[in-house]
Amino acid sequence: MSRWSLLFCLLLVGCSGSPVSEVSEVPQTEESVVKYGVRVKSGPMDEVLVKDYVPDSSLVVAETHVPKASVDVVDVHTHVYAKTPEELTEWVKTMDQVGIDVTVVLTGAIGTEFDQLVDLYLSRYPERFQLYCGVDVDDIENPDYAERATKELVRCYERGARGVGEVSDKGWGLGGNSENHLALDKRLHPDDSRLDPFWEKCAELELPVNLHIADHPSCWEPLGPNWERTPDFQGFNLYGKEVPSFDELMEVRNRLLTEHPRTTFIACHLSNLGHDFPSLSQALDQYPNLYLDISARDYEIGRQPRTAAAFLGRYGDRVLFGTDMGREQHMYEGWWRILETADEFIPGRLWWRLYGLQLDEKVLSGLYRDNARRILNWKPVEF
Ligand SMILES: [Zn+2]
Repeated sequence: MSRWSLLFCLLLVGCSGSPVSEVSEVPQTEESVVKYGVRVKSGPMDEVLVKDYVPDSSLVVAETHVPKASVDVVDVHTHVYAKTPEELTEWVKTMDQVGIDVTVVLTGAIGTEFDQLVDLYLSRYPERFQLYCGVDVDDIENPDYAERATKELVRCYERGARGVGEVSDKGWGLGGNSENHLALDKRLHPDDSRLDPFWEKCAELELPVNLHIADHPSCWEPLGPNWERTPDFQGFNLYGKEVPSFDELMEVRNRLLTEHPRTTFIACHLSNLGHDFPSLSQALDQYPNLYLDISARDYEIGRQPRTAAAFLGRYGDRVLFGTDMGREQHMYEGWWRILETADEFIPGRLWWRLYGLQLDEKVLSGLYRDNARRILNWKPVEF
């Protein structure tokens, strides 16, 4: 017995006399590691960078092309993806092809910027688009702030805003980001009492609020070999930055929902809890004014298709369809494939392969259209 095999014998079986597999004959060095009982050899793969890793699949399975959604759809989460009349016409053409009846554009804009979008979108396609306005976040220490912000909300509503959003707080406060933010104790979080009159006005005008609170939980984890998402997402990382924790931001959401029970909040991206449906169910049970959109969380529902389908069935009246991923035809078709088919091992935006949920027509109708028809503000816009 060689020196190495003796060592491995001692390590693995304590020399009890049981047969030792041939792998134990190989010394473990940096170049040769045993994983799962197989000797891992060095080779060209050692030179592949994590960010460049795009494995092919040899799997022979169905690839269902779903060009159009099975029922008319309201997409409750997009942004200003069309900036000219020509681009807008192009977008409407794509909407017709893929089965989108109405698109909600979360402009985040106020003032003349909002008015220009009204002119661009609503004067041309009042039946096909809804515009949401933003929140004034300037000079928030000024005693006139609450009144000013609320007044602008009413003005935007009169111009045609039918909701507010996307109201985003990833920890930097409203209007803040990693480059440009106030001191930790000065930030305007959604549960700040200065915003109370604003949220109450939303309730009075029946304007839903699209709220982005926190972010994907991986953002709070250190970047490195164990980081959960694909390297393309590392720009969103918040680890070690001066922001509240994920749980603290969920508490902000909970206080907001408690303080303003008459206001409808649509927490986008499954409230950033798509990895944890038990917690999300608890929140929906606790806060009747909380709704969700599934935008940009194709990878969360697709990596756990059975759990996600059960969740969408159980909360069929609380979840809305949204995209938040541009306006390309194949993007919409990708969503129909995940939601409507039983396809397996679907390539996703992350490395996680996705699996179709094959939702039934009742769940799809609620998700695609009926919930939006019920909770959004459909008051016609007058010019
Ligand atoms: Zn968005």
